[in-house]
Amino acid sequence: MTETGATETGETTSRTAVSRSVLVTGGSRGIGRAIAERMARAGHKVAATYRSGSVPHGVLGVQCDVTDPTQVEAAFAQVEAANGPVEVLVANAGITRDTLLMRMSDEDWDAVIATNLTGAFRVARRAARPMIRNRFGRIIFISSVVGQLGSAGQVNYAASKSGLVGMARSLARELGSRGITANVLAPGFIETDMTAELGEDLVKKYAEQIPLGRMGSVDDVSGTVEFLAGESAGYITGAVIPVDGGLGMGH
Ligand code: NDP
Repeated sequence: MTETGATETGETTSRTAVSRSVLVTGGSRGIGRAIAERMARAGHKVAATYRSGSVPHGVLGVQCDVTDPTQVEAAFAQVEAANGPVEVLVANAGITRDTLLMRMSDEDWDAVIATNLTGAFRVARRAARPMIRNRFGRIIFISSVVGQLGSAGQVNYAASKSGLVGMARSLARELGSRGITANVLAPGFIETDMTAELGEDLVKKYAEQIPLGRMGSVDDVSGTVEFLAGESAGYITGAVIPVDGGLGMGH
């Protein structure tokens, strides 16, 4: 694989892209599935976790619930045996349990934090061990525009998603000297099962607030992940990259 590009002076550059061992959590549906598909198409050795359903063709499927430490350890062992140590981790698995604060139960809070924040911490910690040894790693957390914007009815979800920013930036500082980057991708409203529950009127209302005037596609997100995992993004760490059509500008 070769990546080509032009410098400011018009000079053409090219670098050989490397095939990496990639693990995507939550690769059975939506954004995670699109990321796994794209990374496999780009020539990487890709594994993806699923709880139910299946992963795309050409991707190694590993059954794993990120809230269960034993399943996480088993999944990494399976990926390492098949594809080698994980070099690119995409912590994507996530859920919502939306309701207003006064109605939000401890269970609603705990479930979202356990999956979105603790699950991401658990896979990042496990992935980092061999990355440190190999002095290379790319950790990408899938956050959300609401992590910084806030969202009525999503106190648990927004807290989990902004928690990823503090985690990524701390990892960037802890692990930077070992050649490991940690970044956050913050999607806006992307068409998936998660947003399919929103009514047509609400989608229209949201779209009106998005400068680009439309919801995003899973491909909008997967393209940015491919870039962050690629050789050209080696000097980007601790960044929060919006893929939101301009919705979160200024945050
Ligand atoms: P979907 O609901 O379509 O898919 C969620 C994925 O996460 C599924 O593959 C699901 O697996 C997996 N998952 C959920 N819980 C667990 C768990 N405990 N362990 C392992 N896997 C789990 O969501 P999206 O594709 O829309 O969202 C993907 C990520 O992007 C999430 O983190 C979400 O918060 C974030 N995001 C989404 C936006 C959107 O507009 N869609 C906007 C901003 C951020 P299974 O099906 O097997 O249960």
